[in-house]
Amino acid sequence: MSVLSKPYFYDEAAAFEHVEAVLWPEGPVCPHCGSVAAPYKLTGVRTKASKKNPEGILRHGLYKCRDCRKQFTVRIGTIFEESHLPLHKWLQAIHLMCSSKKGISAHQMHRILECTYEAAWFLCHRIRLAMASGELSPMGGGGKTV
Ligand SMILES: [Zn+2]
Repeated sequence: MSVLSKPYFYDEAAAFEHVEAVLWPEGPVCPHCGSVAAPYKLTGVRTKASKKNPEGILRHGLYKCRDCRKQFTVRIGTIFEESHLPLHKWLQAIHLMCSSKKGISAHQMHRILECTYEAAWFLCHRIRLAMASGELSPMGGGGKTV
């Protein structure tokens, strides 16, 4: 076992659980209306079929608000929003950026995460912004501040 063998670094459901536990310590909060009136989890929802994924992709961490009836995930309103990259890769990226003293280039990130250079650049940029603003500070896991 090592830090890198933590499930949230490779398992998408575990990644969502981890981020939810950090960002929603009191339980899910609707990002649309702020309701905490027990939004409920939607399970088994898949994205639209595409050529690459004819059966669609299972959507993790999807909730529906009882008050405004809108759907949301923990990614909304965070640096993870509007990214197609799986959440577990984001967690890997954050770990890499915070554990390398000299920082890490987008090219290196692209090779390690096996994502496109554009995606890697976007990740690095967003994570740096988050680090600078101090938001999302308790991410990183194991009590480490990121
Ligand atoms: Zn709501």
